[in-house]
Amino acid sequence: MEYVCCNLCGADDAILRYPCTIRENSTVKDWSAFACTNSGYGRHHTIVQCRRCGLVYTNPRLDHHDILNTYQAVEDPLYVEEREGRVLTFERHLKPLERLTGPPNGRLLLDMGCHIGVFVEIAARRGWEAWGVDPSRWAVEQAQARGLHVVQGTLETANLPEAAFDVVTMWDVIEHLTDPRGALQQVYRLLKPGGLVVVHTIDIESPLARLMGAHWPWLMEMHIYYFSRRTLRAMLEKCGFQVLSDQPQGRYQRLGYLMSRVGALVPLVGRPAEWLVTKLGLRGLAVPVNLGDLFTAYARKPRNAPA
Ligand SMILES: [Zn+2]
Repeated sequence: MEYVCCNLCGADDAILRYPCTIRENSTVKDWSAFACTNSGYGRHHTIVQCRRCGLVYTNPRLDHHDILNTYQAVEDPLYVEEREGRVLTFERHLKPLERLTGPPNGRLLLDMGCHIGVFVEIAARRGWEAWGVDPSRWAVEQAQARGLHVVQGTLETANLPEAAFDVVTMWDVIEHLTDPRGALQQVYRLLKPGGLVVVHTIDIESPLARLMGAHWPWLMEMHIYYFSRRTLRAMLEKCGFQVLSDQPQGRYQRLGYLMSRVGALVPLVGRPAEWLVTKLGLRGLAVPVNLGDLFTAYARKPRNAPA
């Protein structure tokens, strides 16, 4: 385990927000806790809040090398099964994005933490020159097998061209990073002047998160930063971006998958509900889910920034 300072303001001045709920000695060799679809709700290390700037984060946490090694090794076949829900979600996410960028016209987009490349594929189909980068060797192989331009690695190691991209997207990625501020600085370098960064993450200050407190399901071992709209805005501005907007944005999920998640959270409710949904033949039905605790921020590298 390692202790870290606040990634937003650099202070070492945090108070306990939610105590550790992991009883046994955790080992990162068990990468299932880091798979996208894992159901380790409520199982997390100590979560603290910076007294200076309000950023909420896991501290202490697993060593950052161990976390990266874990992501390189992670496999997640359930995510492949849940592809349809992601497709619907990402198709919907593209609309507000293109309202800001205009039509794609073959311009260059990078999806950071692209996993098996679902968004890369949808963006490419829409007319973007879409690239992806992800640390997971397994996920990158899945994406490459579909003919997608996806490279294995991190923003530091993937050798991506600087000041080349019109858009960089980060869907449900920033809460997993060991150094989100460093990553946003990298994104700034990769973007052309006037380029757009899009960050979708969980909102620790949303009404639902406040209401549920320690029972909010997104408190999980794999999440090491818990942004709010305010703290993410502050970090983007520190990295030189102009924040255009941030608003709650939900997702689509197949009813069968959704019920299996509910079942992992509240077995007494979820299991019978999952049985009923299966019985009624509704497992494949895609339903919009927006509880207001996920949000998307759009920010621009200033047009007059040196390239
Ligand atoms: Zn701070």
